[in-house]
Amino acid sequence: MSGSPNPTPGRPLVAGPADPEHDPTAAYALDRGYVDRLTTRLLATSGATSSVTSPLDGAPLAHVPQSSEADVAEAFVRARRAQAAWARVPLDERSAMLLRLHDLVLDRQDEIVDLIVLESGKARKHASDEPLHIALTARYYARTAHRHLDTRRRLGVVPGLTRVEVNRVPKGVVGIISPWNYPFTMALCDGLPALLAGNAVVVKPDAQTMLSALLGARLLDEAGFPPDLWQVVAGPGPDLGPALVGGSDFVCFTGSTATGRIIARQCAERLIGCSLELGGKNPLLVLRDADLERAAEGAVRASFSNAGQLCVSTERLFVADQVYDRFVERFVARTEAMTLGATLDWVNDMGSLVSQDQLDTVVAHVEDAVARGARVLAGGRARPDLGPYFFEPTILEGVTPEMTCFGQETFGPVVSLYRFHDEADAVSRANEGEYGLNASIYSQDGARARAIARHVRCGTVNVNEAFGATFASIDAPMGGMRESGSGRRQGAEGILRYTEPQSVATQRLVRLAPVLGMSDETYAKVMTTNLRLMKKLGRA
Ligand code: NAD
Repeated sequence: MSGSPNPTPGRPLVAGPADPEHDPTAAYALDRGYVDRLTTRLLATSGATSSVTSPLDGAPLAHVPQSSEADVAEAFVRARRAQAAWARVPLDERSAMLLRLHDLVLDRQDEIVDLIVLESGKARKHASDEPLHIALTARYYARTAHRHLDTRRRLGVVPGLTRVEVNRVPKGVVGIISPWNYPFTMALCDGLPALLAGNAVVVKPDAQTMLSALLGARLLDEAGFPPDLWQVVAGPGPDLGPALVGGSDFVCFTGSTATGRIIARQCAERLIGCSLELGGKNPLLVLRDADLERAAEGAVRASFSNAGQLCVSTERLFVADQVYDRFVERFVARTEAMTLGATLDWVNDMGSLVSQDQLDTVVAHVEDAVARGARVLAGGRARPDLGPYFFEPTILEGVTPEMTCFGQETFGPVVSLYRFHDEADAVSRANEGEYGLNASIYSQDGARARAIARHVRCGTVNVNEAFGATFASIDAPMGGMRESGSGRRQGAEGILRYTEPQSVATQRLVRLAPVLGMSDETYAKVMTTNLRLMKKLGRA
């Protein structure tokens, strides 16, 4: 494993780690004017600020103004006002704005990706997935708007006489709480279908990555969306969460299962809906007939993309006995060949973890496993020589149930290897635990892998791919079973969650009551005969 310790010269990352708020000789790593243009997009009048430093080298990036509870309340007032007008904007106009966003995001990729790398510490190749994912999402929903949102006819109770149609009415204002790990896409992607469906959005991104989220808000403005329609607030989740849930008509939360439970309770109290995209302990199965080169390459991406700080990342690898040694040899070799570094260019296979907290968790999981007898086949060490929060991509063998990393999500670059003898056993071990987010199956027999997928209790299953096949197929729903969440992003499910289905039935000619002096008893008999007839005719 190699590493390049210093940022690329000529890029905006120029300063050392001193804090310019307290040290007049220090400078921000980002241009102040640029940061100000982003933070003016915030509704934040508390007077407090929160400092953001780059995980790459600890350099200060910005002091971000913080919102008070009153700011959150004001954000909802503005959003609600804007939503009333927005709901009357024709669907084709809303779609056109999404297509403009698509172009803007692709045109401005360099700027977006630089900012994501600086704020999150991830490798450029992983940051570059984010604008691509937003462009995919924007195009998909723009092009399928009518399919999801047009009023549709349904069967009426009396054929020909009861005309029924279902309208898709926007919920109103959607609250979004997003995490730091994919800061640009997670702050934006769930909001795009909400806007298209006629809603306004109030988003609270994670404190570590506010700037990436604010750049997303600016791009929405440039694409033509009315600014008040997309409100951004900043502050600690536990402080602002209740006000955010309190003002929302629906909440979309992405983050840990522990926080998801809190949000679900608060939403239940208000009788509003929520979708929860939570954690995972995702399994990858290498069957005996897998293409081992392909499986090893996929396992590296599955386990170490964004240093494993990815909800759909693989943390458990189950490998068939017959191919175990040959697979492990390839997987270890590829992992050891990975390049780590704190630069803004394309050379690194893996970047930094996001924070000291993340590093502490990863170190604790690995030390606990090793102390209890696990073997380290690759990695296993922090790399302070590269940056404050770097940790090597790590493969463990001999992980047993009493070790923390057996069942708990590490959310870092640590994967455990397990051998299996028969596939039914592998599937039941993959299904152990409380999570059910994502799985991968490698086999040269696609039909067999798809049949096995039906028994895996995860919301997404990728055959011969790490996670991107499901994640980037925006027409298909994405989300977790069991404690990995409820509800889905993407596809019809990802937009219909933001609408209320409203049924409108028009009764023609004959009323649904006794006619022409018919008694109630006769009417009941006529209806009974009708029901029997409908069944005979095969009607639903
Ligand atoms: P987290 O739950 O601590 O924080 C996520 C967001 O929730 C942040 O914006 C945070 O400020 C906010 N928050 C925290 N406490 C809150 C509270 N009491 N009320 C309201 N908001 C609150 O999660 P994290 O540790 O920062 O993120 C990593 C976790 O997110 C991992 O478990 C990961 O698997 C999960 N995740 C899931 C998906 C998915 O799509 N399923 C995607 C990314 C991350």
